[in-house]
Amino acid sequence: TRATIETPAQAERGAALGAFLADCRAALGDTHVLTAASAQAPFLTDWRKRYTGRACAVLRPASTAEVAAVVAAANKHDIALVTQGGNTGHAGGATPDASGAQAVLSTNRLRRIRALDAANDTITVEAGCALADVQAAARAAGRLFPLSLASEGSCTIGGNLATNAGGTAVLRHGNARALCLGLEVVTADAQVWDGLRALRKDNTGYDLRDLFIGAEGTLGVITAAVLKLQPMPAASVTAVATVDTCDDALRLLALARARADALLTGFELMSWYCVELIDSHFPTLRMPLARPGGATANGFAVLLELSDHESEAHGRALLERLLADASNEGVVRDAVVAQSLAQSQTFWAMREHIPLAQARDGLNVKHDIALPISAIGEFISSTDRAIAARWPGARMVTFGHLGDGNLHYNVQAPVGQDPADFLRAAQAPMNRLVYDQVHARGGSISAEHGIGQLKVDDLARYKSPVELALMTAVKRALDPHNRFNPGKVIAAPPVP
Ligand code: FAD
Repeated sequence: TRATIETPAQAERGAALGAFLADCRAALGDTHVLTAASAQAPFLTDWRKRYTGRACAVLRPASTAEVAAVVAAANKHDIALVTQGGNTGHAGGATPDASGAQAVLSTNRLRRIRALDAANDTITVEAGCALADVQAAARAAGRLFPLSLASEGSCTIGGNLATNAGGTAVLRHGNARALCLGLEVVTADAQVWDGLRALRKDNTGYDLRDLFIGAEGTLGVITAAVLKLQPMPAASVTAVATVDTCDDALRLLALARARADALLTGFELMSWYCVELIDSHFPTLRMPLARPGGATANGFAVLLELSDHESEAHGRALLERLLADASNEGVVRDAVVAQSLAQSQTFWAMREHIPLAQARDGLNVKHDIALPISAIGEFISSTDRAIAARWPGARMVTFGHLGDGNLHYNVQAPVGQDPADFLRAAQAPMNRLVYDQVHARGGSISAEHGIGQLKVDDLARYKSPVELALMTAVKRALDPHNRFNPGKVIAAPPVP
């Protein structure tokens, strides 16, 4: 046997870690400092199972004061913290690195709804509240909290704000940033910034709130937020339509905007291959329309939703008229307006099951991109052509929030090729090809999922030196010792 000899530096780190855990146990109680592998496991792998890290501890504070105590202990003993909400993120931002030296700070015990002010149309919630619980609390008061993601049962408000999440209602209500009025944040020096203002106007200097939103846990720990509520619509009416081309889908979008304006709350695009993928993996979710343009054409399906404040009959009549006119103008091939809540839910389930159908089909190359809406049709046709030329047989799974200019432009392995081999060989060159096309059209390489650890190198490639320098300056100012989520978003900013 070979004895392991501990170096003085290792002994010092071990002592610091022991002292850190002791401080955390004193602040949180033994049961909320998880060190056993089995207890830590759910916190160490991301939702897409791309990343698995190690942690010296998983910490579960139950109040803002406890979060501040954890940050103070981390500062004292020089431990990096990775904040984690529902762990549904798509960029590996909530997964610690492989060193085992970082601690995960889970917000899953910060779950209180602190206040609901119906007259001000605001709700104040703690960061670990599940999005679905916030929606339910708003609904109980006759209000709508419109942020809506397929992960809403598990993702948290803190995570939604940290990633500036989008989802299906951005077209009408904006993304998470647009729905937030105020924040409470534990800063890198373990202070509590109480920015829980419930104001729609507040021009008093730099907007600190907007710095923390979308920062993916690299600048501070969001512990609570004031969110905007909306009036509950009388009814929502959903339809699916088929179109021959993406440009036709864009014409339908323009028509829907002109006719329905703010009543248009959803406009989702699905390439016909998405419909086929759903059909083969979730056969109970049936598209009631035939492939547009015959079996050899590509074609797209579009899901539209209007939310009407007058009545369901009013919304339905508006949607039916819109689709009839679009059909007369040759924009739409065919359309069905949902006849029941169940049918409407099936239409949405088809859209929301695309990522799950993709996962069942095998590993694939994903791109969450944003483009000016006017550039999307040309982007899809030219990028589809470039991919087909380089990876013959690759299957294009293109879907997304067309009304927001946000595409999930994903590529499945050719039939018969091992998906893991395809991913290994194609991912890097395909990302480069797609992001170059996006960048050339003034688009973004991350529309709603963020940068996390997945796109750190891509961010460095596509942001200008001026933008990178400003981002680094912000990180250094707010988190000088790189305490929060090191290695995420921007690569190793220099510590002064
Ligand atoms: P986590 O995954 O736990 O963390 C995400 C990032 O936020 C990490 O960098 C983490 O460090 C940071 N963070 C978390 N909490 C805090 C906090 N309190 N303070 C500071 N930083 C924090 N996303 C969309 O935008 N639109 C969609 O339509 C969408 N659909 C999805 C559908 C499915 C089925 C799934 C699984 C995910 C989907 N997502 C979507 C991605 C994901 O749900 C969102 O990114 C969500 O906002 C993440 O929330 P979370 O609580 O799970 O955060």
